[in-house]
Amino acid sequence: MARMRLRFNPWPRPTIELTDTPDPKCQVCDGYGGWPEDYGHPETGEYAGTEWWDCTCWNAYRVRRLLRLPGWLAHLLFGWTSPTYSTEPPF
Ligand SMILES: [Zn+2]
Repeated sequence: MARMRLRFNPWPRPTIELTDTPDPKCQVCDGYGGWPEDYGHPETGEYAGTEWWDCTCWNAYRVRRLLRLPGWLAHLLFGWTSPTYSTEPPF
């Protein structure tokens, strides 16, 4: 079952999003929404990196952008600061 939550996403623009979230009582991922899995090099078998697997109890890509926040409001609400100088006029 999907649990939609509001989330503040600072990148690439401050936005309020509605996203799916992991099941906190999920038996597979314990509510983490996924797990890391080490993988080896196909020839040598040596450690080559870690992949993050998303659990099936949620869909990380099921995101709906609800509202784009003006910079000053994002700063006020979430302490967001623009990573670069903005040339946009204030809202
Ligand atoms: Zn899960």
